[in-house]
Amino acid sequence: MKIAIVGAGIGGLTAAALLSEQGHEVKIFEKNKEITEIGAGIGIGGNVIDKLGKHDLAKGIKNIGQVINVMKILDDKDNVLSKVKLKKHTVNLTMTRQSLIDVIQSYIPESAIFTNHHVTHVDNDALKVVLHFEEQEAEAFDLCIGADGLHSNIRHAVAPNSKTLYQGYTVFRGLVEDVDIKSNNVAKEYWSSKGRVGVVPLLNNQAYWFISINAKENDATMQSYAKPHLQARFNHFPNEIRNILDKQSETDILLHDIYDVQPLKTFVYQRILLLGDAAHATTPNMGQGAGQAMEDAIVLANCLKTYAFDEALQRYDKLRVAHTKKVIKRSRKIGKLAQKSNKLVVLVRNTITKIIPNRLVAKQTKFIYKAKHK
Ligand SMILES: Cc1cc2nc3c(=O)[nH]c(=O)nc-3n(C[C@H](O)[C@H](O)[C@H](O)COP(=O)(O)OP(=O)(O)OC[C@H]3O[C@@H](n4cnc5c(N)ncnc54)[C@H](O)[C@@H]3O)c2cc1C
Repeated sequence: MKIAIVGAGIGGLTAAALLSEQGHEVKIFEKNKEITEIGAGIGIGGNVIDKLGKHDLAKGIKNIGQVINVMKILDDKDNVLSKVKLKKHTVNLTMTRQSLIDVIQSYIPESAIFTNHHVTHVDNDALKVVLHFEEQEAEAFDLCIGADGLHSNIRHAVAPNSKTLYQGYTVFRGLVEDVDIKSNNVAKEYWSSKGRVGVVPLLNNQAYWFISINAKENDATMQSYAKPHLQARFNHFPNEIRNILDKQSETDILLHDIYDVQPLKTFVYQRILLLGDAAHATTPNMGQGAGQAMEDAIVLANCLKTYAFDEALQRYDKLRVAHTKKVIKRSRKIGKLAQKSNKLVVLVRNTITKIIPNRLVAKQTKFIYKAKHK
């Protein structure tokens, strides 16, 4: 089958790797000149490794991943509010985004990747789908996978009423080298009325950090924030956070407003199918956006291998729409709780978080590991 993938992010690349391996004629189109994800880290959940099963890509990801098997939530005075130990199949692997992209890309034939190809619109009917580009000639395919991210053109074409919803907070991120973290297997999140700060160890004494602050959409104050503003805002935080911010270079701090997509009723529209953030962008509170994009790709590849074309797309829809809706909603809820900023409310929330048994905290995300893969 001739398959077009629009967007070479983590989701599109995973689909390209798995589908070209199955013998499909795959072309992946990326609007940018290069396939890069510089300046940040990412956590890939055990659910993805589980679903990859014996596929070599699982080994590739394990090789570049730091194993995280403890997640701690603390307050700004370093008091532990909750501590969850992750069991074998639920451990998280953390890595730089670029190393993940590079590993996935190594499973795709070079001839299948077309950078500098901006898809402007698509014509879709029951028999074929035609992609139109800003500069190149139009081309027809049997299937088009829209993996073009949160603000997907393809989603807007097939579901014009779909909505991205701003969640009321913005996230700064960075990557630091030569850090001295005591426990490499522990990811930490500090919750305070001034914002949420996370530190996640990577291999080779690297770590990534994030700071999540309540703000207006496109907030001018946040956009003018530089390293000294973040240092001043969080200078009462434990030494570990202050040291990490000290090590951060002034120029490489990323900033993104946080949105999710209002859950869609379907991801399949004749010969167009949505995957990853294009289908179900979620807030980063469960660290599952890229993981779910990869799961989409795995499930799609399994379905196309197991069922006839129409049935395969229906099965993909059935398995992915309901599951990712649950991820979006649960993640949104965690974000609302974690982003409280009123001092009294924060005190009450922290006290309650402290007395909730850790197994109940872990239960919140248990469903992630139970999704079917074909
Ligand atoms: C602060 C933050 C922290 C996060 N942390 C985690 C984490 O720890 N773990 C996790 O699993 N997820 C995390 N996520 C979510 C994760 O980053 C995304 O879910 C994931 O990157 C989505 O991948 P994707 O391939 O679907 O889309 P994208 O990565 O957005 O890729 C889309 C690609 O399509 C290209 N494109 C767009 N339009 C066109 C077009 N018209 N023509 C051609 N190409 C086009 C873009 O250039 C881009 O390369 C986080 C997100 C944020 C904001």
